[in-house]
Amino acid sequence: MQRLLFIVVVLFVAWKILAVWGKRLVSKGAGAEDFSRFSARSRDRRRRVHEQRAQQAPELLACSTCGTLVPTDRAVAGAAGLLFCSPECAAKGRQAKRGGG
Ligand SMILES: [Zn+2]
Repeated sequence: MQRLLFIVVVLFVAWKILAVWGKRLVSKGAGAEDFSRFSARSRDRRRRVHEQRAQQAPELLACSTCGTLVPTDRAVAGAAGLLFCSPECAAKGRQAKRGGG
């Protein structure tokens, strides 16, 4: 009889400990909110990543001849402050200006 009482007490204590542990997991762990598209935390994280990428992306300029967007560091500068995507486009731009197509 004493052994049965001891087992019941041990099970009761174990159940209480697990209940407290479970409550802590529910309040601090990754719940449905963390995977939600509308979660404030993940939305802020996405916004931060987006802003970082926008800062890192180089500025694009349209080629004066063909209109291709080129990063400013790769653009070929032509006469009269015009920018081209390649030396070929710069040559075409010069020809078009002379009218000797
Ligand atoms: Zn071009």
